[in-house]
Amino acid sequence: MADIIIIGAGLNSLVAANYLAKAGKQVLLLERRAIAGGQAVTETFKPGFTADALHAGGQLRPDIISDLDLARHGLPESRSEPLISLLPDGRQLRLTADTEEVTLASIRAFSAKDAERWPAFVAFMREAASFLDAAYRTPMPRLPHVSMSEGLPLAQLGLKLRGLGARDMFRVIRALPMSALELTEEWFESDVLRAAIGAVAIHGATLGPMSAGSGYTLLHNWLNRGGPGHRRVAGGVGRIAEALVAALKARGGQVRTETEVATILTDDQRVQGVRLASGEEIRAAIVISGADPRHTLLDLVGAPELPPEFVWHTQSIKMRGAVAKVHLLTDGNHGLPDGTVVIAPSVRYVERAYDAAKYGQMSTAPYLEATADGPVVSLHFQFAPYALRDSEWGQERSVLERVAIDTAASALPQLKASIREVKSLTPLDLEQTYGLTEGDLNHGQLILDQMFFMRPMPGWSTHKTPIDNLYLCGNGVHGGGGLSGASGRNAAAAVLKA
Ligand SMILES: Cc1cc2nc3c(=O)[nH]c(=O)nc-3n(C[C@H](O)[C@H](O)[C@H](O)COP(=O)(O)OP(=O)(O)OC[C@H]3O[C@@H](n4cnc5c(N)ncnc54)[C@H](O)[C@@H]3O)c2cc1C
Repeated sequence: MADIIIIGAGLNSLVAANYLAKAGKQVLLLERRAIAGGQAVTETFKPGFTADALHAGGQLRPDIISDLDLARHGLPESRSEPLISLLPDGRQLRLTADTEEVTLASIRAFSAKDAERWPAFVAFMREAASFLDAAYRTPMPRLPHVSMSEGLPLAQLGLKLRGLGARDMFRVIRALPMSALELTEEWFESDVLRAAIGAVAIHGATLGPMSAGSGYTLLHNWLNRGGPGHRRVAGGVGRIAEALVAALKARGGQVRTETEVATILTDDQRVQGVRLASGEEIRAAIVISGADPRHTLLDLVGAPELPPEFVWHTQSIKMRGAVAKVHLLTDGNHGLPDGTVVIAPSVRYVERAYDAAKYGQMSTAPYLEATADGPVVSLHFQFAPYALRDSEWGQERSVLERVAIDTAASALPQLKASIREVKSLTPLDLEQTYGLTEGDLNHGQLILDQMFFMRPMPGWSTHKTPIDNLYLCGNGVHGGGGLSGASGRNAAAAVLKA
């Protein structure tokens, strides 16, 4: 018998479970796949062909790592890698969050003025990301009613913003609704540099660098990465979930894999437990879901159990995934430099890649991000919209693979000859294999009307739902978006407070 059932064993569920187990609760996680980790998994597609299936890298928030003592449970070190923009003429732009000479020299090759401004830009991004981090850990009120207990943390957040100083305070507030292009135009003159930063902004989002709100996603992705390039985990991103599972088991928690929840059981608007796809029922006083809000509320609870207006809001959560992945097993001679490599040569190129998604088409000249781990090259492909207007993903896999390989090969001349095997994951695979509704890796787009007190929907940012003792802890709720574990930490705090 568990006190608390948690649906899914993604990183946010595992983080929430660990905080609750640390507080003495009996926690049981139920995961539909055979492996824990959700989107952050290292998988073997064939013998000798192993890759971080979806996610190229990342790091949990440092306070979560230390609160949960994850280093002791096997969490390896992660290292920041540079972002390298490859250009068609063979030149490269190499960016890091440092102001080391190698970065400045790389920028100087495109603009001496931009190289001078880089240290101030990096300092601003650090400040802005730290404010966003504080906002993500601040419980958001159920507007329009703000209680005294909710008002205090909000006031503290306001003080933190004020503490940035008048100039940076306004810069941060202005950055959120701006486009990444407008934001970078205020700092830099080089289109190559603006495009590379624009690429960071739109990673994982169905937005272009000219879209309003891509200023916000730039700050968000910068916060999660700690700079422009990814943080790579030694041994693969799956080691994070392994450490969280080991820590949870040491605290007395349990994880059941290959255990799909079919129904969240309720009685008179109060949670009672879950019914599995196998028919087995498991009772618990509290259920927390790390699956996306739409799947949780509409598929597992069911519209008849929920207030009509709430159902309408849940149906209206914008999912719109447009990311695919193409993994290449090579003979090792792929020629990829060491870093987060992007094909984003100009702002116009990246915006045009996004234009295709607006019309329900796969980009023919996509924004690509390539990372290598030994002989395996992984290509992150945008934009590949989940909902294709004139085709379906069953027919488009070979086109996706061809476009990805041709685009990468245009900047990496050795790549094509080195390829031995290809494994692609379409947005439909993201939904069917990884449980992501509409292939949306953030369980709901990171856009201005779905952030802070409006995430997952207005009035419900407190991790609670209209069903008593049913909570949400995944990516789609406040603090979520990316691998940070912040929404899992926040949800555990809300449950413990209640
Ligand atoms: C291609 C790609 C690139 C990415 N790049 C980055 C990046 O650069 N930086 C970054 O920070 N983040 C990135 N992300 C996003 C990041 O991986 C996720 O934000 C994070 O892992 C989400 O964790 P989660 O626990 O909230 O959800 P998930 O990992 O989605 O976990 C949810 C779990 O619930 C399970 N589940 C769903 N329904 C049920 C059910 N009915 N019964 C039982 N189990 C169920 C699912 O199988 C899954 O394991 C990327 C994601 C993808 C796909």
